[in-house]
This record gives sequence, C-alpha cells and structure tokens, in this order.
Amino acid sequence: MDCVFCKIVGGELPCYSVYNDMFAIAFLDIAPITKGHTLVLPRVHVKSLSELKKDEAAGLIFAVQRVSSGIMESVYPEGLNIFINQGEVAGQVVPHLHVHVVPRTTGDGLKFVTPRFEMSESDFKKLAKKITKAINV
Ligand code: AMP
Ligand code: ZN
Repeated sequence: MDCVFCKIVGGELPCYSVYNDMFAIAFLDIAPITKGHTLVLPRVHVKSLSELKKDEAAGLIFAVQRVSSGIMESVYPEGLNIFINQGEVAGQVVPHLHVHVVPRTTGDGLKFVTPRFEMSESDFKKLAKKITKAINV
C-alpha cells in the first residue's frame, strides 16, 4: 500500500514520534499549525472513522487523550483544537485516518470562525430523527 502514514507505522519512513501503543501511534506534524501540532492515527489503514472496529476506535481516542494531556503538560498551551479532516471536501490530504491535536494560545492568530445558518424547529426535529435512525440501524 502506497500510504505515507502506513510507511511511518511500519518504520519504513521516519517521524518525530511522541507516542505508540498496540492501536495507535502519534508523531509531530511535519508542517505544524502551531508548536506541538501532533497527529494521532490508528495502526490499521482506514480512511474514515466509521471503518474502525470498536476496540480500534476506543484505542484511537485513548491515544488522543494521552497525547493531549502530554502536550498540555509539556508545551503548556492554554487549550487545544482536536479534529479530523475526513474526506477531500473536508481537507483530507493523507488518506489514512488521523486526528490533529493543535495547541492553542491567546493571540496565536488562528481562527476557526465559520458562517452559520438558521434552521426551523421542525427541520431540527426531522434532522435529529433521521440521524438517530441511521445511527441505530
Ligand atoms: P490532512 O489535511 O488532515 O490530511 O492532514 C495531513 C497532515 O499530515 C498535514 O498537516 C501534513 O503536514 C502532515 N504530514 C504529511 N506528511 C507527513 C509526514 N511525513 N510526517 C509528518 N506529518 C506529515
Ligand atoms: Zn495508511
């Protein structure tokens, strides 16, 4: 598989490793948004969160928790943005699922400000029902 993150997982390519366990690994992003920007990924190659088995998903979020705490206690940001770009439309460039952990500090200049739109109460109700139904299939 020609996946750069699989090659890092397999030890064929180097990385600035910060964490690894049986389900996940974490390393510094090579083009950091802020100092300490870290990627946490499952060892298994999947493109999206829904492809992970339950124990793999739990393992990934556990690793995100460990890495997040480690960054808070070593880099001393005031907060973190933790996110996944899933799908090209969402900005996913590397097709191996990964969680970005980005340290945030007052005045760092980053903006995650997005326009919002309004929905009616009945549209909210219908949408919540539709998603709930899909989750519980
Ligand atoms: P995304 O847009 O969510 O797919 O993010 C991919 C991220 O992977 C970007 O932030 C890149 O800077 C980062 N990246 C790509 N190749 C490497 C690499 N070899 N080592 C570390 N980070 C990488
Ligand atoms: Zn991969």
